[in-house]
Amino acid sequence: MLTKTSAHSSNGIHHLSEMKQKVIETLEAQRTFFASNVTKDYDFRVTQLKKLKKAIVKHEKALLDALKLDLNKSKIEAYGSEIGLTISEIDHTIKHLKKWMRNKKVSTPLFHFKASSYIKATPYGSNLIIGPWNYPFQLLIVPLVGAISAGNTAILKPSELAPHTAAVVSELIKETFEEHYVAIFEGGIDMSQALLAEKFDYIFFTGSTQVGKIVYQAAAKHLTPVTLELGGKSPCIVDKDTDLDLTARRIAWGKFLNAGQTCVAPDYIMVHSEAKDELVKHLKKHIEKFFTTTPKESPYFGRIINDRHVKRLAGLMTCGNILYGGDISHKDRYISPTLIDDVTDDDAIMQEEIFGPLIPIVEWTQEEEVIKYINEHAKPLALYLFSKNRKLIDKVINETSSGGVAINDTVVHMTTAEMPFGGVGESGLGAYHGKYSFDTFSHQKAVMERSTLIDPPLRYAPFKLTMGALRFLMRHTF
Ligand code: NAD
Repeated sequence: MLTKTSAHSSNGIHHLSEMKQKVIETLEAQRTFFASNVTKDYDFRVTQLKKLKKAIVKHEKALLDALKLDLNKSKIEAYGSEIGLTISEIDHTIKHLKKWMRNKKVSTPLFHFKASSYIKATPYGSNLIIGPWNYPFQLLIVPLVGAISAGNTAILKPSELAPHTAAVVSELIKETFEEHYVAIFEGGIDMSQALLAEKFDYIFFTGSTQVGKIVYQAAAKHLTPVTLELGGKSPCIVDKDTDLDLTARRIAWGKFLNAGQTCVAPDYIMVHSEAKDELVKHLKKHIEKFFTTTPKESPYFGRIINDRHVKRLAGLMTCGNILYGGDISHKDRYISPTLIDDVTDDDAIMQEEIFGPLIPIVEWTQEEEVIKYINEHAKPLALYLFSKNRKLIDKVINETSSGGVAINDTVVHMTTAEMPFGGVGESGLGAYHGKYSFDTFSHQKAVMERSTLIDPPLRYAPFKLTMGALRFLMRHTF
């Protein structure tokens, strides 16, 4: 099994220097292939997307098995949130790609008569895509769909912390693509750093805010543009004016999916004090409906990725008062769905991203305190509000900043290809999904084609134009 610091990889690379050499050679081969212009062709892109879909279908069982081993994901959850979502993204991309690739005609200022102007989406070139472990398939392959659709080559680096999935993805990619087009390098931090040392044309990173800063610095050395899909604490506000039974059901779903290891999982609940007891009652009820009173035996409840994270989460559980759950089995990497109250802002559980099945519950009475609290903390990746009060809904949407928002639900806003998915501030930079992926992996090239038929002398020295005439022209022809 691979470890975070291991230089060993499935590419058969055992030494740092060998690893660096292989990275350099692969990148060089990708540059040469990109320069052949083959990847820019519409038919080529579509063919590759179809090949990718076929390979996913072929490896579906192996992927489901690997996701079970890495995270105890049930088949339904693994298919829905990883495989099915990726296939939908491919289908959506194939369906719309021709339209997305069309040059976007724009008007040309009269001053430049005679000319035509358009924006051409052009691929960056060689892209690096680094993935995390929590949705180890989807979060590596959905960005790849964007990179392919935009006409790029790509090198993928899956997370070493989901080694079974990384091995299947590696096999899938190697079977499907030539290394000079799409390559994959398994490995840990050493591998990631060997890749980041090279000059890529675009870097797409999904992971923690802390590592995101390292990636950003590495990219800055080469002035490489980046997308950073990061994490953080996503608040979940619950008003008293709402259906608390449905609210609890939807929060429990979003929170306990993948045992809470979801970047957009509601991190903590801020509930109106008059609704707290009722909400807690319904949360307990829905947890038991989903996973029974012994979630450890439920086939639908996931496991924590590794011992280090079990220990970290166990540490967070020492804050506040456990209202429900609180069971830990280190040897099974199991932590039960847990509700905690009486926490303070200084407690670690309210300071760091939880990324596990623990929900701290804090109370509020004034809307203003909620807005103030959110705005005083890092900008979240997602923000959730359960309320029927239109005024409050508008207020929260208008007066807070977050990557995305879902009203009266959790997580769902990022499961559509029609909206950009990404963070803001500490939760990330840039966005993707559907057309937004195509745009992310494309440079928007401004092209103006001028006619050679006429060439008014106005802009050439020696200037015949008076300042007054120039002012007039600039006001009326730009
Ligand atoms: P991580 O940042 O530890 O690792 C992500 C990737 O970076 C891995 O491939 C890892 O090998 C590599 N890496 C780790 N340390 C590195 C270093 N020092 N230098 C270079 N590369 C390094 O993140 P993770 O633990 O895999 O994932 C959990 C985090 O990711 C959470 O914060 C979560 O919120 C976030 N996340 C965000 C999204 C999103 O779409 N915004 C999705 C999933 C997870």
